[in-house]
Amino acid sequence: MIDVRGVSKSYGSVQALNDIQFQIDEGSCFGLVGPNGAGKSTFMKILVGVLQKFDGDIQVFNKSVKQNRQAVKSFIGYVPQDICLEELLTAKDNLMYFGRLYGLSGEHLRKRIRTVLDQIGLSDKANQKITEFSGGMKRRLNIGCAILHEPSLVVLDEPTVGIDPQSRHSIFALIQQLKERGSTVIYSSHYMEEVEQICNSVGFIDKGKLVEHGTMKHVLNKHRSASIFVSADGIGKEELSLYGDTIEKKTGFTVNCDDPLLTMGKMIEQFQQSGINPERLELSQARLEDIFFYLTGTQLRDNG
Ligand code: ADP
Repeated sequence: MIDVRGVSKSYGSVQALNDIQFQIDEGSCFGLVGPNGAGKSTFMKILVGVLQKFDGDIQVFNKSVKQNRQAVKSFIGYVPQDICLEELLTAKDNLMYFGRLYGLSGEHLRKRIRTVLDQIGLSDKANQKITEFSGGMKRRLNIGCAILHEPSLVVLDEPTVGIDPQSRHSIFALIQQLKERGSTVIYSSHYMEEVEQICNSVGFIDKGKLVEHGTMKHVLNKHRSASIFVSADGIGKEELSLYGDTIEKKTGFTVNCDDPLLTMGKMIEQFQQSGINPERLELSQARLEDIFFYLTGTQLRDNG
């Protein structure tokens, strides 16, 4: 288990983390979710031993990050947000280099490199210099470097930001494999659909505070309520707000109200009277993104 005990961290006057406290079960896939600047990277850097000055402590599989930093580092694979690779080397030589840093060598290392290249879908690019790689391929290789030593905890900081669909798919498949192998995976993102799809537990972080956490099922059941999605010419946020708390989305509005069916009936009546012909008018279950907004008042990104 990972036991986070009252972790706080300030950078000068900026409080990046404020008394964070929660647990993550061994073998689970935990999604740390929050907008840019929420404190996700700071938390991850503390967890993996990169940032050493902070208040509180984290026990990773019964070892304190503060007191047993080297031991904790040895069973963690950390993939930072910024890609860290040797540009002039081939994919295989990068893996060789990082593998040696983790203390691997000989036939074992060569075997691990073959397995990892296959896992990240780059076997056929093994001998290519990475200057020829796309951003997504580099990111996959970066993840490969971090899992060579078969870490029991894999920490990925926003691994799917700005990459192509093929690489995104490959990273999802890899996370799935890690889960099946029993690794604990901690993954930060501001893409809610991804987290809802991949993770079985979740933590919401906003302005350095953990506002909700638990199993995905628990968080969804606790806060989930039906809402109405409306897309219609001639109706805007102001009019819809009369029916309930209204959030503007890319293609329409979500209206949260106590009795969505009844409210929908009233809307239909008003639309008919006003000659409004909606493109879409449907009941929808609140998604993780809506729950985050409801709890924090913060949009994760520009209109989901
Ligand atoms: P996230 O990963 O969720 O985007 P961060 O952990 O990177 O958030 O940042 C949390 C807060 O701490 C932000 O206000 C950010 O500007 C600040 N911050 C992060 N790193 C530093 C640093 N090295 N020096 C000063 N402020 C920082």
